[in-house]
Amino acid sequence: TPDAETSVKVSNLTVTFDEFTAVDDVSLLMLKGQVHFLIGPNGAGKTTLVDALTGLVPATGTAMYDGMDLLSMKTNKIIRAGVGRTFQTATVFDELSVLQNLDIAGGLHRKAWRLPLARRGVPSYVEEALETIGLTEQREKPAGTLAHGQKQWLEIGMLLVQDAKVMFLDEPVAGMNADERDETGRLLRRIGDERTIIVIEHDMDFVRNYAEWVTVMHMGKLLTAGTVEQVQADKRVQEVYLGS
Ligand code: ADP
Repeated sequence: TPDAETSVKVSNLTVTFDEFTAVDDVSLLMLKGQVHFLIGPNGAGKTTLVDALTGLVPATGTAMYDGMDLLSMKTNKIIRAGVGRTFQTATVFDELSVLQNLDIAGGLHRKAWRLPLARRGVPSYVEEALETIGLTEQREKPAGTLAHGQKQWLEIGMLLVQDAKVMFLDEPVAGMNADERDETGRLLRRIGDERTIIVIEHDMDFVRNYAEWVTVMHMGKLLTAGTVEQVQADKRVQEVYLGS
């Protein structure tokens, strides 16, 4: 994407726990309209990097987004600014319906006092999110009864109703079957056109099929970045993966 615009500019991001440097002077760009995968062996620092960018651990350096430095902001402010994330374990309310989960996520973000759902009708942004994540038919089902894949899509829907322009997804296809993985890949491509999607991923087939850009981390450092082809051809990447 030659005309892609920078969405998040990370410069010299470092996270230390006591003496241990978990993320070591990492600089990278996250572009709008690009599905960007973050890979690397266990312990490479991927989760800690995303934790730093979402206000969960303190870091030095800067991460500029829309004129703000994410590293100096608290999580709730980061979410309001349009930066959201999912976790490996779904965080939906199991007893509530798909619709209610989306309505609550969107309502919290908008801070508005609201009538009960039945008296005001379903907000258009909830209808849109249902359509995008393909759960329109499951809308009345308690989230706890959804299939594993559907639950992950609901998590993504909760970021959509929060108007997230930047989404960090933590291993979204873990535990999914092949059909669900493909469905997720298509979903990421769809929502990625207008957003910045960064995916922590271990499933290399999924990365090969859906990555538009790949950043490789190793021992806290940025090892290399490029297209799937470029990264796969990199000897250092092969060594790191053979060694793990
Ligand atoms: P990845 O997501 O790439 O598997 P992590 O970011 O989870 O890697 O971890 C990077 C390193 O930082 C690991 O060695 C891990 O043990 C360490 N680490 C992560 N969180 C903490 C913490 N809260 N305290 C101390 N060490 C941590």
